[in-house]
Amino acid sequence: MSTSTDSTDVSLDTLVSLCKQRGFVFPASEIYGGFGSTYDYGPLGVELKRNVKDLWWRSTVRERSDVVGLDSAIIQSPRVWEASGHVQNFHDPMVDCLECKGRFRADHLEGPDCPTCGASESFTEAREFNLMFRTQVGPVAEEGSEAYLRPETAQGIFINFENVLTSTRRRLPFGIAQQGKSFRNEITLGNFIFRTREFEQMEMEFFVAPDESDEWYQRWIDLREQWYTDLGVNPENIRRDVHPTEKLSHYSAGTTDLQYKYPWGWDELEGIANRTDFDLTQHSESSGKRLEYFDPQTNEHIVPHVIEPAAGVDRIMLALLCDAYTVTPDEKGNDRTVLAFHPKVAPVTVAVLPLSRKEPVANLAHDVWSKVRPFWTTQYDDTQSIGRRYRRQDEIGTPLCVTVDFDSLEDDSVTIRDRDTQEQVRVRIDELVDVLRDRLGF
Ligand code: ATP
Repeated sequence: MSTSTDSTDVSLDTLVSLCKQRGFVFPASEIYGGFGSTYDYGPLGVELKRNVKDLWWRSTVRERSDVVGLDSAIIQSPRVWEASGHVQNFHDPMVDCLECKGRFRADHLEGPDCPTCGASESFTEAREFNLMFRTQVGPVAEEGSEAYLRPETAQGIFINFENVLTSTRRRLPFGIAQQGKSFRNEITLGNFIFRTREFEQMEMEFFVAPDESDEWYQRWIDLREQWYTDLGVNPENIRRDVHPTEKLSHYSAGTTDLQYKYPWGWDELEGIANRTDFDLTQHSESSGKRLEYFDPQTNEHIVPHVIEPAAGVDRIMLALLCDAYTVTPDEKGNDRTVLAFHPKVAPVTVAVLPLSRKEPVANLAHDVWSKVRPFWTTQYDDTQSIGRRYRRQDEIGTPLCVTVDFDSLEDDSVTIRDRDTQEQVRVRIDELVDVLRDRLGF
């Protein structure tokens, strides 16, 4: 089935309210007045998120022969973050407004005026502010008990390089992938789930022979861009931002961001970096353990270089929501809001809608529902008029609805209704699963 590629420009406010109303994203701690820029994922959001993570895991790990998975701890020895450079370097320059006491990232200010109160040139000197969250480990707060919540998942991979290598007997090139929560005490927040203090990352460290690093860097940029377009994202809404040499991080020999055209403009979706041998060398020096690869062909020990595609689940979800949002006219010429998600992304794949809440239609509809439930994420909805139910399914992006009516009792058939074309076809119940699979493509 096809998905729409001509996404309508959507305002962030419209999306935020749709997300709340339909159960994708709720403001966190809402009954206590909220908790700045923190969000909870509702019943549909959690399905969308799971799909994004599963699709990434499938294409990055399971469908490849050269990548394995890992799930490392969020709180590690603080020495990890000293070696990685996060204790030293992971900070933003901050200024305070002397008038309103607001705090801002110095590199985000436009002009000499305070963005909150408008006071002119009333900022403190810029101070460095470390973005890592600190916590205490153990029952008493004493020296040596301080630790950090991880600000990225990547370091958990580097410190397990040797474990994975010896337990899996991998040959170069090979990758280690992981997904999970990361935490950054971001100062400038906003733009909904784009930048939050707690977020989820999907990172993969791909270890290669040093002389192959450029080639793999380019290959991973292509593969990652392709992943988005394969999921139906409009190629016109994705572009590459190649970092100029003078702006590269201390560890990087090359960084390219994939950017998405969000409602506020182009912004980073994911970064692909050539991190050279920086991380393995740092951890090797700090820990005293050799983190090397023995090349059986040359009989030499080498420190592999690493290519890292690093994506954020929440930013991908926001991009998918923006891209899928479409308003088209219905048969009466009224606005019809549709989230034209790719079927593999859609939080609900098939909705079963009985035309009557009473038996025997309801009974048959439950039978139909139990036939499709094992294969896809489904929803059973018997409230309100059928027209309203179709609207609701369109608005949450359900690709196919299955309607059970009074004729179904006679002809053992049901109607499949397509989200994008609004076309309806009649199919026999005993062929339903095959027809749905054919139309959905999975
Ligand atoms: P930015 O420049 O936007 O702060 P970054 O370059 O510091 O991001 P990386 O350290 O490269 O980000 O992290 C990899 C990915 O993790 C980013 O591309 C993004 O998708 C995601 N990410 C990073 N910080 C956040 C955040 N505060 N909220 C949500 N996602 C984030």
